[in-house]
Amino acid sequence: MENLKIIRAQETRINDIDYDNLGFGVHFSDHMFVVDYADDAWGQPRIEPYATMDIDPANCTLHYGQTIFEGMKAFRSQKGGVNLFRPFMNAKRLNNSAERVCIPKLDEEFFVDAIRELIRVDHKFIPHKRGHSLYIRPLSFGTGNFLGVHASDKYRFLIITSPVASYYAAGVNPVRIKVDEEHVRAVRGGLGQAKTAANYAASLYAGMQAKKEGFAQVLFLEAVTKKFVDEIGAMNIMFLIDDELITPPLDQGSILPGITRDSVLHLARDWGMKVSERAVGIDEIMEAHKKGTLQEAFGTGTAAVISPVGELVYRDKAIIINDMKIGPVAQKFYDTITGMQYGELDDPYGWVETINIEESVGA
Ligand SMILES: *Cc1c(COP(=O)(O)O)cnc(C)c1O
Repeated sequence: MENLKIIRAQETRINDIDYDNLGFGVHFSDHMFVVDYADDAWGQPRIEPYATMDIDPANCTLHYGQTIFEGMKAFRSQKGGVNLFRPFMNAKRLNNSAERVCIPKLDEEFFVDAIRELIRVDHKFIPHKRGHSLYIRPLSFGTGNFLGVHASDKYRFLIITSPVASYYAAGVNPVRIKVDEEHVRAVRGGLGQAKTAANYAASLYAGMQAKKEGFAQVLFLEAVTKKFVDEIGAMNIMFLIDDELITPPLDQGSILPGITRDSVLHLARDWGMKVSERAVGIDEIMEAHKKGTLQEAFGTGTAAVISPVGELVYRDKAIIINDMKIGPVAQKFYDTITGMQYGELDDPYGWVETINIEESVGA
């Protein structure tokens, strides 16, 4: 990146991090990438020490939620270097989200380059343990200070990174999921297809109630008819019924186009599986279980990659899926995707972007 300004942290805080107890998103690396937007243009990009930012009480994002984000990971590759997984998909998706909430877009090459530069500066934070990774959180938000309801004229694009443990430190544990008929996360025409904070705010209450009842998460239903499955708050959902892999279609209007979702569908088609992106009735799921044709159910997302559903509770009926164990198909997706991410398996799809961390960085 040509005009990148790098201001290095005076001290590192890597020694404060217990790599045997990482958790998720609680430790942050030494630097962040920042670029501000004003006068109709993105300004000088910089990498600077991770630090708090001043917030004006009238900051428009605090009031009206004009903010979007991405979630991705960097992995230490067996082959040397650091791997990103399909980062241009994140770049495209950030721009789609940006358009929906009137945030200016970023050049996609710039977005991926920004990540490369930040990783080169902070690569020592990437955990060495298989399954662990450096979580990357890009975000874009309004920085104008006003109370009138309109889009901001100033923005900040930031990238922070956080070393994270494997979602499955204690082995894959299929989760209990509650089908929530009362609350909705997103609705056709709303923000469901954008990766924006508002969707998470909308899902917190139902998630909290479900946790109190002993569930890991909520499966939301399509908001208008409440007949079709939508998403698990931060993951897409898939079912294996009678050897057919089924997931709700993106044109349902409220589904976030997950990159893991896309990768799983691509692999499944490549492996010759029967794949359907179509509306999935919640009654159809319960019926399939009754008939014995519901083989597997799992969520897909960057954090866990594959998260098997062991129990699904709808109204007063609880069904156990695949004996509360991860199924062979879910396991194969998990092994294949993580194998590519860690450079253990070949990548015939061009999904893996390797960063050479020795390469020199900007001025
Ligand atoms: C980020 C996200 C996902 C998963 O997307 P991936 O690209 O696979 O990580 C699914 N649903 C929602 C609502 C999300 O925000």
